[in-house]
Amino acid sequence: MADERRNLYLFYKQEDEVLRKVEPLIAFAENYGFKIVDDHKKANIIASIGGDGAFLQAVRKTGFREDCLYVGVSTGELGFYCDFKIDDHQGMISAMDNDQVEVRKYPTLAVSMDHDDSTFYCLNECSIRSSIIKTFAMDVFIDDLYFETFRGDGMIVSTPTGSTAYNKSVTGAVVDPKLQCYQVSEMASLNNNLYRTLGSSFILSNERKLTFKFEQDNNQYPIIGIDNEALSIRHSEVIRFELSDRKVKTVKLKDNSFWHKVRRSFL
Ligand code: NAP
Ligand code: MN
Repeated sequence: MADERRNLYLFYKQEDEVLRKVEPLIAFAENYGFKIVDDHKKANIIASIGGDGAFLQAVRKTGFREDCLYVGVSTGELGFYCDFKIDDHQGMISAMDNDQVEVRKYPTLAVSMDHDDSTFYCLNECSIRSSIIKTFAMDVFIDDLYFETFRGDGMIVSTPTGSTAYNKSVTGAVVDPKLQCYQVSEMASLNNNLYRTLGSSFILSNERKLTFKFEQDNNQYPIIGIDNEALSIRHSEVIRFELSDRKVKTVKLKDNSFWHKVRRSFL
């Protein structure tokens, strides 16, 4: 079939155990009229094989594309980004054939640094924390307003879909991905007569910008994580955040809303 919408790129680790599971999936997909492409730029469907971590990597390594559909295929249990189990071929067929299937668009976070002009995108979160035993301090600004000075382990800035990940482990709220917003959560803030932070997570609208400012010359050595990758910020003293216009599109199956996933995973 020469249907351009059926160009499928599979993202997975080249490990024997994964390969064994991927082979039947490839056979099934080809049988069903999909063309497996080896260049993700030629794909209009990108499927990650693995867990949520693999999905995050697939989206990152293929550049947070907006002109294709991402699909998470799990080699274990269903996750937050994985809507299919790898051997559930029937489920995939009905999803593909069924016009009832909706496309959902997940908000992403744009992170930029002062030392160059690069922008990074996050599907889960951006975390900044000390890499040494000492506490880490930074000033927090909302738009142009100086808000607080944080001192502690670090902070997590999460998207709505990332709210169930790292953010949740530090008692951040679980946020509906239909809301265009992002959340800021603390990791072990110091609160005393010298240092004072809000102490609770806060949620910012997509119209707000968030800025962290810190000094690199007082041996703080913060490390920054964007989803499951580390970034070096040795030369940055300012990090800016905003909700990005870029959305990640995935399929939404019947009875598998975000809140179904939350219930399935946590309750
Ligand atoms: P990992 O260490 O395997 O991830 C930790 C767990 O988080 C895994 O069970 C992973 O699912 C799950 N997860 C990933 N995204 C999620 C989401 N949006 N909602 C709910 N659970 C989610 O590393 P990874 O698989 O590469 O995932 C990276 C993510 O781990 C980071 O983005 C961060 O959110 C999270 N993390 C959490 C902590 C913590 O809770 N203390 C610390 C560091 C990082 P799978 O097993 O399906 O991959
Ligand atoms: Mn993982």
